[in-house]
Amino acid sequence: KKSERLQKYLARCGLCSRRKAEEYIREGRITVDGRIVTEMGTTLDPDTSEVLFDGARVSPEKEKLYFLLNKPKGYVTTMSDPQNRPVVTSLVKGVDARLFPVGRLDFDTEGALLLTNDGELAQKIQHPSFETNKTYEALVRGVVPQNKVDQLEKGVILDGKMTSKATIRYLNRKGKNQLLRITIHEGRKHQVKKMFQHIGHPVLHLRRTAYGKLTLGSLPTGQTRRLNPSDIKKIF
Ligand code: URA
Repeated sequence: KKSERLQKYLARCGLCSRRKAEEYIREGRITVDGRIVTEMGTTLDPDTSEVLFDGARVSPEKEKLYFLLNKPKGYVTTMSDPQNRPVVTSLVKGVDARLFPVGRLDFDTEGALLLTNDGELAQKIQHPSFETNKTYEALVRGVVPQNKVDQLEKGVILDGKMTSKATIRYLNRKGKNQLLRITIHEGRKHQVKKMFQHIGHPVLHLRRTAYGKLTLGSLPTGQTRRLNPSDIKKIF
């Protein structure tokens, strides 16, 4: 439980200076959790107290935080899991904010996952109209012929609906299998797996490498990197 002096809290919220806050307190214009506070030494828990000035809520601006996680396999992309499997949010260490993942990666999918407390940005990235590109490296069974690559790029019918355009490049051969890079802007459930399944080359391993031009770089698996505004711009 945190404790902060009321004057300091009021100043931190941008209401006024600490000195002015003392005036307001003395004048009985400040209530904390429904009670008028006129005592000068009063402290409160800034995370749970409801503070009003002349009846209007006073609260600090929450800092918006953005992290890129290189998600390992074996983690679920939800805040909590009924089966008690490990959750991705547990991988962001030492951050005192409620972060949520932007979109989903499957339990067995690795790679780039954004975590933030900025609901507006999260909505924007996931809204179809922004067509945010997501790039994946997919190891698929067998060697995919060019005509099937062309088919996937143009669009295939999955669950009764055409997929939108994709961009696919061949990377390496891995024995009898093949590694490809695929960029899509849709985000249907299991989309990449379903696309390759559709052409008869099931995905053996999947890793997201980028949102737009924001790439994982050398971020190790299981680690997070704090993002700044210029990183965020690269997404769109
Ligand atoms: N497509 C998939 O099939 N799985 C993912 O985790 C992400 C995209």
